[in-house]
Amino acid sequence: MDTVIPLPPRPCLTVLGTDALFPVRRIYCVGRNYADHAREMGGDPNREPPFFFGKPQDTVVPGGGAVPYPPVTANLHHEVELVVALGRGGSNIPLADVPACVFGYAVGLDLTRRDLQAKAKDQGQPWETAKGFDQSAPVSPITPATTCGHLASGAIWLSVNGTERQRGDLAGMTWRVPEVVAHISTFVTLAPGDLIFTGTPAGVGALVRGDQVRCGIDGLGELEIVIV
Ligand code: MN
Repeated sequence: MDTVIPLPPRPCLTVLGTDALFPVRRIYCVGRNYADHAREMGGDPNREPPFFFGKPQDTVVPGGGAVPYPPVTANLHHEVELVVALGRGGSNIPLADVPACVFGYAVGLDLTRRDLQAKAKDQGQPWETAKGFDQSAPVSPITPATTCGHLASGAIWLSVNGTERQRGDLAGMTWRVPEVVAHISTFVTLAPGDLIFTGTPAGVGALVRGDQVRCGIDGLGELEIVIV
């Protein structure tokens, strides 16, 4: 194909057990999906309908590693999340069909400029600059569902410089993975390559340069980043 500017590279994630890569299409994220985190953010811990925001495709940091402290914030926060990687898509996907759409699962970090998010909330503005900045979405290698099964429970945790900051259980999600995927698919057509960040448990907090962040989910690998 002849293009007037260079064709942008497509970010890809590695997949455990194969040399073949997983090309990323869109990134959707669920807000406040664990009651304890909804409470710490001053929200309603009850079962209000899930809401979504996005991150650009090229915010993915495959496999973690060095992540620069972003500009225009003094309050960069970590949010460890279960990431769903879709192998099939569709619109209005029935709940029972969701597992067949899931290629696999990964551990992700929804890095957040908390100060800009708070300001955006106050002013009724979009979260784009709070959530969708460069390298704001580190993601571990994907574990195929054929290996790990479909995850509905298990520990999810994060530590900074060896001190545990977040610990929850996937069973604590307000909206489970099938409900999240089915609900998003009523708004947009999902497709192979889409990643869905499913929300974070309580314990979010600030990061500074030099911090070593380790996080993991039972049944999946771990993800490590260092803020530089
Ligand atoms: Mn999040």
